[in-house]
Amino acid sequence: MNGVKSNLEDARKRHERLSSEFRPAVRKSKTGSLFSEKHAAQQEVQRLERLEVAVVEFAEDLRSACSMTRDLLCCPTCKQVANPVHEFQVGDGTFQCKYSGCGTTWGTRLCRCGKPYASMLPSGKFAEPVALGAGWEDRLYGCDLLAIPARAANGEWSFVCPECGEIS
Ligand SMILES: [Zn+2]
Ligand SMILES: [Zn+2]
Repeated sequence: MNGVKSNLEDARKRHERLSSEFRPAVRKSKTGSLFSEKHAAQQEVQRLERLEVAVVEFAEDLRSACSMTRDLLCCPTCKQVANPVHEFQVGDGTFQCKYSGCGTTWGTRLCRCGKPYASMLPSGKFAEPVALGAGWEDRLYGCDLLAIPARAANGEWSFVCPECGEIS
């Protein structure tokens, strides 16, 4: 960034100097190579100005990506930050995070219907709904729960897609 800035300042100074030399040279009809030099200097200024804009935009993108990742790492139960290396996994457009401190797992899932949805389990464990009776999921997870967990046909625990109701 600083490199681009100082290069841009140098290029602007060079263009200014050539411009100030150009006017008296025109009066004396002795422009020689000054015109093409001045033109090249101006193009270099414009190139570096575009580069500076791109660098600034990139830095902003990076900053917002960083704070987004920090948000994703924050445990929704205890607000501690999970380890980005060992407790965070990125899938194809989805992520899963597990904070070992309290056992909470959270992340996003992608249903076969194409709907991405968020899921979390405060303890990281599914509970048997049969033993708990009707309304168990509300009692157990309350507002902490995003998608409702359920057993899939193969007997494995998963979540109910809030869009199509399929267990995916
Ligand atoms: Zn936690
Ligand atoms: Zn679905």
